[in-house]
Amino acid sequence: MRHSTLNPLPGQGKDAGRYDDPAWVVNFCFVIVMVCSTVLTWREVIVLENAYKTSQRSALENVSNALDMQMQVGIERLLFFRHTMQAALQTPLELNILRKRQGEFESKRMLAEWQIGRDNQRTLPVYGVSDYFVAQTALLNRDNPNLHNELTAAMELGYLFRLSTHAQMLPRRAWYISRAGFFITTETQTSEETIVPTYYRLLMRPWFNGQQKQENRGRGVRWFSDLTPGSEHHGDVTASVPLDYQGDWLGVLGVSFSVEAIHALLMNASHGRESDEKGEYLLYDNHLKLIATTSPFNTLQRVFSTEERARLSAEMENKSHGGLRLAARYISWQKMKHFDGALVRVHTLREGIAGDFGRISIAMAILWLLFMVMLLTAWGVIRRMVKNMYAMQSTLQWQAWYDPLTRLCNRGVLFEQAKTLSQQARAQKRPFAVIQLDLDNFKEINDRFGHQAGDLVLSHTAGLISSSLDEQQVAGRVGGEEFCILLPDCTLGEAVTIAERIRQRIASKEILIHKHTTIRISASLGVSEALKEASHDFEHLQSVADRRLYRAKHNGRNQVCARDEAPKS
Ligand code: GH3
Ligand code: MG
Ligand code: MG
Repeated sequence: MRHSTLNPLPGQGKDAGRYDDPAWVVNFCFVIVMVCSTVLTWREVIVLENAYKTSQRSALENVSNALDMQMQVGIERLLFFRHTMQAALQTPLELNILRKRQGEFESKRMLAEWQIGRDNQRTLPVYGVSDYFVAQTALLNRDNPNLHNELTAAMELGYLFRLSTHAQMLPRRAWYISRAGFFITTETQTSEETIVPTYYRLLMRPWFNGQQKQENRGRGVRWFSDLTPGSEHHGDVTASVPLDYQGDWLGVLGVSFSVEAIHALLMNASHGRESDEKGEYLLYDNHLKLIATTSPFNTLQRVFSTEERARLSAEMENKSHGGLRLAARYISWQKMKHFDGALVRVHTLREGIAGDFGRISIAMAILWLLFMVMLLTAWGVIRRMVKNMYAMQSTLQWQAWYDPLTRLCNRGVLFEQAKTLSQQARAQKRPFAVIQLDLDNFKEINDRFGHQAGDLVLSHTAGLISSSLDEQQVAGRVGGEEFCILLPDCTLGEAVTIAERIRQRIASKEILIHKHTTIRISASLGVSEALKEASHDFEHLQSVADRRLYRAKHNGRNQVCARDEAPKS
């Protein structure tokens, strides 16, 4: 009900207040600060993360390049051997000793297994199998017009192999395997009986049969690793290259590195490159089989789970380098240029935290948290303060507008309202009525039952008055037990009806003033109306109503008077 709440009185702005609610403004400001600071921190985190990824990548690149350079040496030697053989095939040496070897081959080629040049300390012996073996094996062919030249070229290569082995320039093993049923190797055959099985096994190795024309169309270097535990060549990583001459595929040149040697290369490449950030390097072949690692070997099996390996291999499918997060580890990887595999760097969260980036991230997170705690505390305090101030302001405002005992408008506010409403009525030439109400013999109630009972009667009467009015009508307490009611848009007749209704309600209700005491009261009312008085001036209307009120008193109280005494005729 308007008379007892803080709703603005008629004539005051009704919409003001929702958006300038200070609590709402405080919330809005704090949320903006919170969001902005979080976004800023988040941006910093992204910048930091990118810098971290770049640092991981550059660490990996350094090691990968160093390892690649070492692998390149091996590859270049292999290509040099192929070049040498092609040159020897092009322009064979016209040496007696070589011609003698060719004759020796012709005499032995029917034998199941044979060797030539074993007595020569400068070259390596050539081991071979029979014409029959060659004829029976699909990949082999001895009907090669350059067969003798190939044989002597292999012997020249034997010189190079031997020299390289002496100079420790070769990896673990080197081979030339001819499709014409012979081979040379830096591994010495202990007895003739091992020649056929050895040759047969070499033919079966992927690094030989993987060099067929349809399998290696580019005719470049291919890498093969044999890491199956228990196999004879376990621990070999072999680079092989096909030897072609005049469009024919003659054989395969191969060099084999032991896993230990590659491990040593990797250790060598990664050595001294770690400053403050640790990390583990893992070298994988193209099937994602682990070849070597910089961490102790016994921890290897648990490095990646099957699922993680699947993710990693999917990542590696079409890219040459990349990075991904697997559980609490950051994995960066790069495919090698001179080796058919990839180098992977594993950086654990613990290592990350110990590093510069980790320390900066933690400091940032703590700062952000601290800021958030401070912000939320300040928010709480300011909100409470604003709320209290707002409540206090409302109370003060209420007290300025209303009479605390009756909860009706006080005299000042009622007069202001009256002025505004009467002016509006005047402008619109509408009726405007005023009722003056005074309780009858109120002094007596005070005297008989005490001041408190008088107060109770006043608030009771005020309640009856305001519940008899509608939204547009305003009631106020203008004196001790005097009330004034403003009725915009009410004719004198309508105002009299309202006044009569109020009078009856006051007169009909019993008021409980003490435990066992009830009293009845009455009121006298005077009514005036602007159109009837031909004046919208409120003071005039009030004085007319007042005059009529006293007429009502004079006529015996408990009545409504809306007319002045008729002039005596
Ligand atoms: P009448 O019928 O002629 O109006 O008689 P009355 O006794 O009502 O008239 P009078 O004006 O002599 O008395 C008014 C009394 O109202 C005087 C005063 O003690 C009392 N009064 C004024 N304000 C308050 C108030 O706030 N509380 C109480 N309890 N009494 C009040
Ligand atoms: Mg009075
Ligand atoms: Mg009175």
